[in-house]
Amino acid sequence: MQFNFIANRPCPSASGFTLPVIDPSSGEVFDEIQRSNALDVDLAVQAARHCMDSVWQKTSGVDRGRLLMCLSQKLLEHVDELALIEQRDCGKPTKQARSDAVALARYFEFYAGACDKLHGETLPYQDGYSVLTWREPHGVTGHIIPWNYPMQIFGRSVGGALAAGNVCVVKPAEDACLSLLRVAQLASEVGFPPGAINIVTGYGHEVGDALARHPGVEHISFTGSPSVGTLIQQVAAERHCPVTLELGGKSPQIVFADANLDEAVPVIINAIVQNAGQTCSAGSRLLVDELIYEPLLQRLGQAFEQLRVGPAAMDLDLGPLIRQSQQQRVWDFLSDAQVAGIPMVAQGRIVDEAPETGFYQAPTLLRDVPVAHRLAQEEVFGPVLAAMSFRDEDHAVELANATRFGLVAGVWTRDGGRQFRMAKRIRSGQVFINNYGAGGGVELPFGGVKSSGYGREKGFEALYGFTTLKTVALRHG
Ligand code: NAD
Repeated sequence: MQFNFIANRPCPSASGFTLPVIDPSSGEVFDEIQRSNALDVDLAVQAARHCMDSVWQKTSGVDRGRLLMCLSQKLLEHVDELALIEQRDCGKPTKQARSDAVALARYFEFYAGACDKLHGETLPYQDGYSVLTWREPHGVTGHIIPWNYPMQIFGRSVGGALAAGNVCVVKPAEDACLSLLRVAQLASEVGFPPGAINIVTGYGHEVGDALARHPGVEHISFTGSPSVGTLIQQVAAERHCPVTLELGGKSPQIVFADANLDEAVPVIINAIVQNAGQTCSAGSRLLVDELIYEPLLQRLGQAFEQLRVGPAAMDLDLGPLIRQSQQQRVWDFLSDAQVAGIPMVAQGRIVDEAPETGFYQAPTLLRDVPVAHRLAQEEVFGPVLAAMSFRDEDHAVELANATRFGLVAGVWTRDGGRQFRMAKRIRSGQVFINNYGAGGGVELPFGGVKSSGYGREKGFEALYGFTTLKTVALRHG
């Protein structure tokens, strides 16, 4: 049985209800989390406020940095344990689960170093004045986290918020709470004061909604689906609470005829099969120069057929999807493709050891996907790559920008001029040239345009979003 973690103590929910925790590899229930409600959120916000007023706002940047660094080191000591927890809870193959735990530690390391380097400026103004700006924390920040990369998203969001001097109330996704509850416990062990990091588990429409509405929450960082992002934005607008939205994507990987295909092919595949395609920045659309469309698809098809899917502990190319409804969602997309006559190039294989009760999906490569079809427009959030061809650079740009999203893009070409032209013309938050960073790069600001959201997390840039700027004008004559 798992409890909320509020003011450095395990707390049962006010409702007395729990939710089952399911292993996606087997479909079996193996634990319980608290089904919390607005009362638990209120308790956590009060604990956070108390921490802010009594301790945290008096803690210097240097000391905050040291605490974050201690946590980073503690997390590294617990990588294997955290990876095992995540593997069972989220169905992540061992390598993926470990890399998430290492990335979490790296976020805290990066933000530890940033704590004492965030500062305002002095501004030239009229004679007789001195004007300066201070970067101040918002105060109590709310963090609503999805299930696909709980540890990484906690690291970038909570790590950045703490570094900027905020305290945090975290609502993990109901399918992925266990690793974050353990991380909060480890944070208390290295000396984070009670109330600095609080975790409240439960449903989005109960806990997440209560957190977004709570008048004591002074900034909300939301990572999740565009539809819930809209709800959060509406609720926050009622009290003019600032929001950072990290929403989905339908990110293109664009391959020109002069690309180095030996380098591109494994990266293209990894960008869609990593985490079984459940990655907001997955490279889920493949746009290929018509000159190399057939040979590239043939090569990718052969590689897709080699991919193996199975229980997380087998550490194959892909584990299961997170839950049955996600599996059904992918099946619905694939049956729509069939109805529309979209050809399938190849599929990987689910191994015989995979229990039928697990939530498995073979990686699938589709071709000639019409640009208006939902497979080219909507997030599948599963291992499905939709390929289409383009005639020239203008056509590639047109297709790349032809969705409501704009999170990440990958461009493969050896032509230096084209590399920059494409980077300029694609509407997205990140562009990778001759590589693709699905999720990677702690140092690199990350976020979207259009329906992929706004605000930036990761990198130093995130700290500006987690602070508010105060201008102080002193007239001294
Ligand atoms: P989701 O929007 O359903 O849930 C995200 C979080 O919001 C969960 O914690 C959930 O409990 C909570 N929530 C749900 N309803 C709520 C409500 N009414 N009020 C407040 N909170 C609520 O998304 P998901 O299914 O967990 O994750 C998949 C989505 O997240 C995909 O669209 C994916 O692209 C996106 N995502 C984006 C990024 C990014 O950085 N851009 C990263 C990871 C995932």
